[in-house]
Amino acid sequence: MADIAIIGGGAAGAAVFGALLQQDSTDTVHWITGGSKAGRGIAYGTPDERHLLNVRASGMGLYVDHGEDFVQHSARHRADVRGTDFLPRRLFGEFIDAQVQERMASATQRGRCHALYAEEAVHITSRADGYRVQLAGHATLRADAVVLAVGTLSPRPLRTVSASALASGAYELDPWNLPQRTQAPRRLMVIGTGLTAVDTLLSASIRWPEAELVAVSRHGQLPFVHPALPITPFPEQASLNEALLACSGAAPMLRQIRATLRNHPQCDWRSVIDGMRPINAVLWQRMDLAQRRQFLRSVRWIWESARHRVAPPSAEIIQQLRDEGRLHIHAARVLGVDGQGPLDVTLRTRSNQILTTMQADLVVQATGLDTAVAFTQHTLLARLLEDGLAVADPLQLGVSALPDGRLINARGDVQPGLYAIGSLLRGNLWECTAMPEIRAAAHAMATALAPNGLPLPAAISA
Ligand SMILES: Cc1cc2nc3c(=O)[nH]c(=O)nc-3n(C[C@H](O)[C@H](O)[C@H](O)COP(=O)(O)OP(=O)(O)OC[C@H]3O[C@@H](n4cnc5c(N)ncnc54)[C@H](O)[C@@H]3O)c2cc1C
Repeated sequence: MADIAIIGGGAAGAAVFGALLQQDSTDTVHWITGGSKAGRGIAYGTPDERHLLNVRASGMGLYVDHGEDFVQHSARHRADVRGTDFLPRRLFGEFIDAQVQERMASATQRGRCHALYAEEAVHITSRADGYRVQLAGHATLRADAVVLAVGTLSPRPLRTVSASALASGAYELDPWNLPQRTQAPRRLMVIGTGLTAVDTLLSASIRWPEAELVAVSRHGQLPFVHPALPITPFPEQASLNEALLACSGAAPMLRQIRATLRNHPQCDWRSVIDGMRPINAVLWQRMDLAQRRQFLRSVRWIWESARHRVAPPSAEIIQQLRDEGRLHIHAARVLGVDGQGPLDVTLRTRSNQILTTMQADLVVQATGLDTAVAFTQHTLLARLLEDGLAVADPLQLGVSALPDGRLINARGDVQPGLYAIGSLLRGNLWECTAMPEIRAAAHAMATALAPNGLPLPAAISA
């Protein structure tokens, strides 16, 4: 093993850091957390109790080998916690913090060297004796290996938003930081209807109880809802998965899934989708570029809604807001956002193609993950691309990399010692952003970087 620098203070960075601290070595693990509270990131930094995990408590954890830790941790802080609950994300942030603190204390006792830096990394250079990581405060660290755990990129405004709308203060790009306003908006429009939009609507409904809420997306599709209790796995999943692996492209896969559901009307479709989880990365990797493009164009919207479902308590509030007439969902394309506040939003309705203009006092962009590194203003990534140490995925789904996270450089070679984890790997793995995948990837990465290699649990290596 050698000195390692982990860049990114979210859950993925915490998982790699914790896994590396377990190993006995005289080398140093540097964790560059970027200023915000270490371990929280966007997902678990929210203080809003209505922002729930979309994975049951028993499925959440930071390390692969500590299955029930989060449930036990939560039970110490709240009454009646069950493994099947969807708990507030804030609790998971606190759990990460506790887990990392514990590992740091044990590492210190064992003389395992580690260091935290609450600032951003702005540049990485490759030298004959490893990497130099430059921090925003001008310090430079030497490392033999670097792990990029920088998460999702800051959202870029949609192309249809005018400069005046952006400058008006009535267009919000950060859906998790609703602006403080002296006057409550009469109408708030959210662009997007996925999980991020649900968070925004839940927060806005409390913050501005009198506001009319509108959410718009091309299909107007909200995330589907998790069943209140876990469902029985589909008994014929293994043969379905085999059939899916034999398909070429997303369209035959969809036909296969539909046929299976028709032939098994008693089966809950959600168990079929969940049962595909172990093969999703392989299905994605087997698609060529044209098939992936086709998937992104035609299937992604419904796949994301079916795969990343909302917790039942959140769905109930959204339904209640709709029943009360406070929330309206539109299936429409946003053609323009203009004005200086209130903003005029021009929409083309999906069902009849009619153009309408709707006025909103506040428009919040909640269109999901941005992984387009070629267009990013993220200093570190932009410079990595400029220096040829990394290249953008051809579909702008993060960076080009191998499935184990090793980056491909501009020459098309593996860039030795430079790794990524999490959403930067979407182009290679597609599903790599939720905790079950992240903690497995973190363990595998720590194993690869270890001198003798930690054994990988069978469930992960399979
Ligand atoms: C709203 C939301 C809810 C989610 N809910 C769930 C859930 O319930 N269950 C689940 O399993 N998954 C969930 N996810 C998926 C989630 O992406 C992962 O669980 C996890 O939080 C991702 O962590 P990350 O560290 O990869 O990214 P992030 O959380 O984005 O963290 C990256 C961190 O790196 C920092 N950073 C960026 N650039 C630099 C730099 N140059 N130098 C230093 N630091 C830098 C950023 O400031 C940030 O703190 C959710 C995601 C979101 C967005």
